[in-house]
Amino acid sequence: AKSQGRNNLQFFTAAMNAAATERMAMELELRQAIETGQLELHYQPQVCTHNGAACGVEALVRWRHPQRGLISPLAFIPLAEETGLIEPLGAWVLEEACRQFAIWRAEDAPILRIAVNLSAQQLRSPGLLAQVEDVMARYQLIPGELELEVTESEAMSDPERSFDTLRALRDLGVQLAIDDFGTGYSSLSYLKQLPVQILKIDRSFVKDIETDENDASICASILALAHSQGLKVVAEGVETMAQREFLAAHACEYLQGYLFAKPEPAEVCLGRLRELSIA
Ligand code: C2E
Ligand code: CA
Ligand code: CA
Ligand code: CA
Repeated sequence: AKSQGRNNLQFFTAAMNAAATERMAMELELRQAIETGQLELHYQPQVCTHNGAACGVEALVRWRHPQRGLISPLAFIPLAEETGLIEPLGAWVLEEACRQFAIWRAEDAPILRIAVNLSAQQLRSPGLLAQVEDVMARYQLIPGELELEVTESEAMSDPERSFDTLRALRDLGVQLAIDDFGTGYSSLSYLKQLPVQILKIDRSFVKDIETDENDASICASILALAHSQGLKVVAEGVETMAQREFLAAHACEYLQGYLFAKPEPAEVCLGRLRELSIA
């Protein structure tokens, strides 16, 4: 039994080393991916609930890996956050999203704003405000055209500091959204102080809205709460007409989900935006 224990330990240590080695390899690869242009953005429309026309798009990053194909952000954003690579990655995303938005605007695409996800580390970065101001100036974005999404837990960790940053961003004309709303622990008193204009209801609450009374009442409550605070609401992950109807009945302003379009490369998304605006 003793030698068996030792074998297990050796196996465990070897597995840990293998995991650590793989992580380091992936970190190196991700660093190179950022530098050599292997990242790309896909765009998913957000539509106005009342007429289904596109009002904005959310930019979602993907990694086009030369061997492994298209990699989901869920597989590399956490690593980027742990290693600090989220700073150059996030800067690239912001630049690319604004560049694409400026192109669409020049082409008269039916789209009013672009939403970009911001990680907690970016929110804490001292360079963020200058970076946002710079990119807005270079692409001549007017107030309301750039939206930044931060998750509830990001905004609530070190609230004093992040509230200051959010206020400064708002003063630059950035529209702010709280992402994944309902999944964190924000107290209502914080919500009142948060300088944001939009709440995004997390997909986990929308998914079973038709069958799960709890989820339905959570969605209805979030909508009532948001509206009482003068906030607008985007529902994520809308896949069915029944979900759309429920959300419309509760005056949810904007919808996003596969019912309208998946995240797609810019050229494909442009066609989708045009379809949505005439539908
Ligand atoms: P998120 O910000 O909550 O984005 C919504 C996710 O839901 C996206 O996954 C989107 O593809 C997916 N989705 C949208 N509609 C539907 C639907 O109807 N049904 C289903 N099943 N899923 C839907 P994605 O693109 O894999 O992104 C996952 C997460 O990765 C994002 O969640 C966000 O937290 C993070 N992420 C993506 N891009 C960036 C980025 O540029 N920067 C940072 N910091 N995080 C990012
Ligand atoms: Ca988001
Ligand atoms: Ca979400
Ligand atoms: Ca999320």
